[in-house]
Formats: sequence, structure tokens, C-alpha cells
Amino acid sequence: MRLEFQTIHLPKRFPLRISRGNITGSDNLFVSLTHEGITGLGEMSPGKTEGADTPEAGQAALSRFFDQDLQSRSIHEIHLSAVGAGVPACALAALDIALWDWLAKKAGMPLYRLLGLGKASVVTSVTVGINPPEVVRERVPMLLDGTGVRSLKIKLGSPEGIEADQEMFSAVVEASRGYDVVHRVDANGGWNLEDARTMMNWLAGHGVEYIEQPLKQGQEDQLASLHKDRALPIYLDESCRVAADIPNWAHVVDGVNLKLMKCGGITEALRIVAVARAFGLQTMIGCMGESSISISAGAAIGALFDHIDLDSHLNLNPDPAIGAALIDGVLVPSEEPGHGGRMIDA
Ligand SMILES: [Mg+2]
Repeated sequence: MRLEFQTIHLPKRFPLRISRGNITGSDNLFVSLTHEGITGLGEMSPGKTEGADTPEAGQAALSRFFDQDLQSRSIHEIHLSAVGAGVPACALAALDIALWDWLAKKAGMPLYRLLGLGKASVVTSVTVGINPPEVVRERVPMLLDGTGVRSLKIKLGSPEGIEADQEMFSAVVEASRGYDVVHRVDANGGWNLEDARTMMNWLAGHGVEYIEQPLKQGQEDQLASLHKDRALPIYLDESCRVAADIPNWAHVVDGVNLKLMKCGGITEALRIVAVARAFGLQTMIGCMGESSISISAGAAIGALFDHIDLDSHLNLNPDPAIGAALIDGVLVPSEEPGHGGRMIDA
């Protein structure tokens, strides 16, 4: 079993501004795992809160862990021992995605079928970052014209306050009038309790479907109050990383948004979905700044989710990989063996 690494800079087509800052691109770590002549591919999009904020840190952690004898172990066993060894979540995600890709390629099956799943039927949301209204009016038609996109996730929680949020939201609605599109909102923890309540009531009156992470991570004790007479379903993102987090907040939210980079890959994602369902919660899968490699891994389990936000690859210029295809707004996994993501120059 051999592990190889490649770091590629992924520049964004449009910079993404959220409540916590502005992102123009990322240096992602691509992992190739070769065994018995078959290569599985994985990808890490670095992140401070995902445990490794540089590709070097991710590569070092994986190299250290890979010294062990992994050949005889199942993916679930490898995952467990990597968590025990302190491998950062986003680095573990790269390895885990490569292991599942390898296994499905070995079986000669698309990964979604190996996992006993169908294809997703829900549309994927495409993200609109925090921008002045005039930028939004220009950008939204670029996202919707002839792309088949039918859902927009609007980033609010602007540092300029909720009036700026309302102005931007209104500009998105105005610019998307005439398109067949639904609106969801992600505050990325940018509101206090009072603003969250005000905004959720206001957004419910403007046809929004749900709100993601209204309060900052660490302020979960205020969720009970917000949840009691909420005007919109509440999803947690930053406050919920792994399956074991779910029981803490299950009674004060409506759903959870998992990300492969945040939870450590497909193995933990399957666990999150199972635990969320056991608590009667809705499920969502989102992404970090990922190319078509990790996005294709997410698409392979897309059928498990009520909502899908796998769109980061659509905002890359260029995406170094291809894989799952956007067909009439739905991200559809490839029929090739594995997760279907592959490097374009390979
Ligand atoms: Mg989010």
C-alpha cells in the first residue's frame, strides 16, 4: 500500500465572503493510495477548525499515521485508529475518501452502489457570499442563467449588521425573480440571539426554507430559546462536527449539516446520518473549498440527505478534476467504478 501526495492551488472564480472572512482560494492536498495496482483518490481542503490549516500539516499527519500496517484492516478500523492517533479531520477525510474510492474500484462498482444507495434526487444549493447589493444583482444571474441551478444558499451574518443582511437578501430575491429557484440562508454564526430571532421571522416572511448556524459556535446554550418559537427550521453546521456531537443539541435543532472535511470522511458521515435519523433530525451535506474529487465523494452519498450543498467545485477557476455532474440542478454521481472523481491531467 503506497500513499502519494500532491498540493494544488485552487483559485476561486468569485471570492467567497462569509461572516468570518473572505476566501479567494485554497491549497488543497490530493492523496493517491495505490495497492494491488488500483489507485484510490482523496482530497483535503485545509481548515483551521478542521485540524490542519495547511497541506503540509495534513501530509505530515497522514505520513506519520501511514507508517502503521493498515493493509489488513477495514476502513472502519482504520478510521477509528486514525481518530485515536489524532489525525486532523480534513486530513483523515482525504485518506478515508481514497480508501472508499479504492474499495469501490476494486469491486468494479460506483461507490454509491457499493454503499447500497441510489442517486440523490434533491437539488444542490449554490452559494451566494456576502456582497454589496450591486454585486449580488450582477452575480446572481451569472449563477442561474443556463446552469440548471434551482437553489441558492445565501450567506448572511454580515459584520455590517442585519440591515445589511436584509438589503443583500432583498437584492438576491430581486435578481433571482423569474428563475425557478428556492432560497436558503446560512448565517455562519454571525448573529446574536436577538438578531437571529428578528432575522428568522423576517426571512420566514420572505419565503426562505431554513436557516443554518444562526448563532456562533460556543453559544449553543441559547439554541433552546431560539428553537422554542422558531419561524424557520434550524440546522447546525459549525456546532456539529461528528456523530457524538448530535445528542447534545438534537432537542434544540431541526437538522445537521455535515461536511466530509469537518467530520473526517465518508465513514463518519455515515455515522452522522444514522445518529441524526435516530434523533428524528433532518440531514444536509455541505462542503469546504473542494474540487470535483471530494465533491464526487459527497455526491456518492447524496441519496442520504434531505438537503445538499455541494457546489464549491463550480466556483473554481479551474477545477483540476472532474466527476459528479450537475444535471438540472441535481449533482449526479458518475457510473465509473469508485467515487468517479479524477484529475483532468491524469
Ligand atoms: Mg454552513
